[in-house]
Amino acid sequence: MLIVRTLNKYDCDVLIAGGGPAGSGLAFHLASQGYKVIVVDAESFPRDKVCGDGVSPIALAELQAMGITQTEKFASTNEIKQVGLFIKNDKVIINLSKPDHLPFHAHIIPRVELDQWIVSAAQKAGATYLENTRVTGFEIRSGVAIAQLKQGRKNFTLNAKMIVGADGSRSVVARQLNGKPPDSEFQLVGLRAYYEKVNGPTDRVDIYFSEESFPGIFWMFPKGPAGANIGMAMVSKTLPTKTADVKQLLINHIARNKDIRERIGNGQMEGKIMGWPITFYNSKTRIIGDRVLLAGDAAGLINPLSGDGIQYALLSARWAAETISHCLQANDLSVNGLQSYQRRVNAELGYDFALSNLLVQFPRNRSLSKLWMTILEVMIARAKQDPKYADTIAGIFEGTYPSYKALNASFILNSVKQGATEFSEGFKKAMGQPGGLIATGLQATESITALLSELSTYQKDHIDWMKNTLGKTAKVAAHIITRMNANGR
Ligand SMILES: Cc1cc2nc3c(=O)[nH]c(=O)nc-3n(C[C@H](O)[C@H](O)[C@H](O)COP(=O)(O)OP(=O)(O)OC[C@H]3O[C@@H](n4cnc5c(N)ncnc54)[C@H](O)[C@@H]3O)c2cc1C
Repeated sequence: MLIVRTLNKYDCDVLIAGGGPAGSGLAFHLASQGYKVIVVDAESFPRDKVCGDGVSPIALAELQAMGITQTEKFASTNEIKQVGLFIKNDKVIINLSKPDHLPFHAHIIPRVELDQWIVSAAQKAGATYLENTRVTGFEIRSGVAIAQLKQGRKNFTLNAKMIVGADGSRSVVARQLNGKPPDSEFQLVGLRAYYEKVNGPTDRVDIYFSEESFPGIFWMFPKGPAGANIGMAMVSKTLPTKTADVKQLLINHIARNKDIRERIGNGQMEGKIMGWPITFYNSKTRIIGDRVLLAGDAAGLINPLSGDGIQYALLSARWAAETISHCLQANDLSVNGLQSYQRRVNAELGYDFALSNLLVQFPRNRSLSKLWMTILEVMIARAKQDPKYADTIAGIFEGTYPSYKALNASFILNSVKQGATEFSEGFKKAMGQPGGLIATGLQATESITALLSELSTYQKDHIDWMKNTLGKTAKVAAHIITRMNANGR
């Protein structure tokens, strides 16, 4: 009898580009099931990553299931129990409640530590790491994914049954799969600096909204008794073109904002201001192909409203592992075989991300910045009076509640009621003060004149904005209809 032996043409079952939370999370899950996994990373661990270092309760639940939170090192990281929201001269401090189904409050964990813990867990489970090695591209031939790699000056290839792009927001794998870089409409830029010797309280993160740099938020996340991560995220389209000018934005903001200055006190910046792009979810982006899949930031899994990405990196890693394991067993790594991953991402995150995208779309229009700031002021005023409402807002920023669950009818109704109260207070004040009504009228006229002159100056920008807003509204509507159909309504 003739025995045909297949050549051992694979170096591994799955080659993962990038060993951040998405790549190492996936490596952990697959290696734990006995699959041969190679993780290729451009850097060597432990390595820093520009981030706010805020690890949400959902991310911590994933880490707990991987055995990563049961250590003394984790126990010594900084737990967050309050969030402060600051706008102009107003602020609200909200106590964060911990949902029963989640094990922890959010923690602030510098990424140089957090990512190393996940790498160690994956290595312990059996994953192999190839560090200081860059994935430069890939090729899919019948039955094999060939990863093209560069280590120093050496170029070489490795063969795998499939390749996963977990190589972050500048993903080479995503770019090749989609044939183009991410659309700038779906990008933010984040800046981060570490400060030492700042003032407490250590269990409170602060978020600052400032009109001059709107749309964009600034944060102070304490990482321990005296240090903090301070940073900002802004729409890339509205940023200055020179890197030095972008970094100056953070310095200017700190200089102008008395609330953040109070918390910094005599604290000093440690190291440099670092910047990094944030690519968020575009439902048109392909996240699967024949023998290819994207996870974490490479797939755009960041919530544009909260800036949270670590939890989605870990969730997508677990969902990807489930699909890949199933496909490896069925020996079907085609785009059709991998569909269940795409469906899961869409079902779990699609609606939430579509709604968040729509909400960040509004302040992108310069003419609406003032209106948006007023809405935020109204929300803060309501949060001061209504603990349940405050809890919802805090949940969105903490990444505990998806925005579609939080922004329900009662939340919106309460916001509208508060808005009506605030405006009628303003009207009463105007009526009671000599010249008050005239002043209010003048203000309104000024705003309308400014709006009209802007509309004529930036006609194209406004038309583009309108098109994008309509597109994003249609996406939200499509999700609502799908959900209603699924619920038989
Ligand atoms: C300023 C800022 C603040 C943020 N704050 C928060 C926050 O507070 N909380 C939160 O949850 N999220 C935050 N995020 C988002 C969060 O950082 C990401 O969502 C998260 O890091 C995603 O993990 P990942 O594994 O997908 O990608 P990454 O963590 O970026 O890991 C990608 C890995 O791929 C490697 N790599 C890149 N290119 C290649 C290549 N060609 N070949 C091989 N390896 C490669 C990199 O070295 C890296 O190790 C923030 C982001 C920014 C920019």
